[in-house]
Amino acid sequence: MKIVEPLIFEYSKPGRRAHDLPELDVPRKGTENLLGSEWLRDKPAELPEVAKVDLVRHFVKLSQMNHGVDVGFYPLGSCTMKYNPKINENVSRLSGFSDLHPYQPEETVQGALELMYRLEQYLKEIGALARVSMQPVAGAHGELTGLFIIQAYHRKRGEHRTKVIIPDSAHGTNPASATIGGCSVVEVKSDERGGVDLESLESVLDDDVSCLMLTNPNTLGLFDENMHRVAEMVHEAGGLVYYDGANANAIMGVARPGETGFDVVHYNLHKTFATPHGGGGPGSGPVGVVEELVPFLPVPLVDYDGEKYFLKYDLPHSIGRMRSFYGNFLVAVKAYAYIRTMGGEGLLQVSKDAVLSANYLMKKLKDYYDLPFDRFCMHEFVLSGSRQKRQNDVRALDIAKRLLDHGIHPPTIYFPLIVDECLMVEPTETESLETLDEFVRVMVEIAREAEKEPEVLKEAPHRTPVGRLDEATAARKPNLRWKREDQE
Ligand SMILES: *Cc1c(COP(=O)(O)O)cnc(C)c1O
Repeated sequence: MKIVEPLIFEYSKPGRRAHDLPELDVPRKGTENLLGSEWLRDKPAELPEVAKVDLVRHFVKLSQMNHGVDVGFYPLGSCTMKYNPKINENVSRLSGFSDLHPYQPEETVQGALELMYRLEQYLKEIGALARVSMQPVAGAHGELTGLFIIQAYHRKRGEHRTKVIIPDSAHGTNPASATIGGCSVVEVKSDERGGVDLESLESVLDDDVSCLMLTNPNTLGLFDENMHRVAEMVHEAGGLVYYDGANANAIMGVARPGETGFDVVHYNLHKTFATPHGGGGPGSGPVGVVEELVPFLPVPLVDYDGEKYFLKYDLPHSIGRMRSFYGNFLVAVKAYAYIRTMGGEGLLQVSKDAVLSANYLMKKLKDYYDLPFDRFCMHEFVLSGSRQKRQNDVRALDIAKRLLDHGIHPPTIYFPLIVDECLMVEPTETESLETLDEFVRVMVEIAREAEKEPEVLKEAPHRTPVGRLDEATAARKPNLRWKREDQE
């Protein structure tokens, strides 16, 4: 493992300072006693002592050791790592938004309320939904919220339903949310075209079904051709249909979940609507519903009475709060700025371009890697490294690591679980043809290496600051503490 940048402590030289403050001109005497001597250190804290220039260089170098959307191509399937226009950041930092206090009186935050109200109108329009709550702060949080709404709806009708049906291609958060929501998960198979297998669905439908959770296009990047029938079957059994909208980047302005049979929808503002994400946040997963489910939404909602905007708490069957205050408000600001700068036509173009880019790459790569579902894809597609594994025991992980040597973030390789050695590629709409072609060139070169020099792949990456990690140990037992040599 080669770490190229020393720790900040290793730059330390006694007496060096990154600041230049004037001499203290008030008496220091007596301050010790304010705290009481038992709270004072015996000796000064051992902080690094460095000059400002070294400090700045150190942290800038560290920031360059990571890959990010602003550094290079990031085709991480299912995550929609598109370029995030910087104007969104500027807007969200306007003091009128960023300096608000959540307890300010309503009449002093009319602008913020108006923004939330307007964003809701857009999200309603995009999804054909009756109302949308901004409270959930992640996709998974939206799923849990949606599930609570669905459960409350069934309870209200005097029914107790506990089964959540989830396709075998689903994102891992779907079964996790269902389980945390107190339901049991029943898996349905995918058919040979990658959609929900109707027979498999039929066989699990009964009066214990709470809902079906589905993302469409699914994590294979495929639009479910039987969507209307699937929704109809679940509805006939008395269940509801939940739309995991994390893949909405493929369908904006083309298909509206509220019109394809879905009852509850979450969006990932941090994916589809251009907020930087990764590393755990901040996210936003607004949940929208059809008319019949509005009474169950979390409170407060934002309403307008013709004169002023206000927080509405009186929803008869509300599931209550899912989050303190109003969700990740500044993410909503960024999403609003994005939607306004794109406009309706722009959002449609986003989806068309995202789908075009993915099909372009799929077509160019399918001779070099296996393509288990060979049909037009939506905004992403899933290759398989089976051939490479069979030939030379090169795994999808090796291919992923080798991409890092070329300054490209790898595709998703841990799901969908139904594809052996999967490589889920999502180029997004924001990459140029040249970048896509460069990715093709690199992937073709890696396929050749897999045949001719598999050792190179097995030891990749070779050019990154840190080589191949034991990822399980790094995640489970991270060692993040620096100890001086004379410390335990
Ligand atoms: C990202 C994603 C989620 C979860 O969203 P988070 O904001 O990460 O919780 C759910 N489903 C799909 C298909 C996703 O891609």
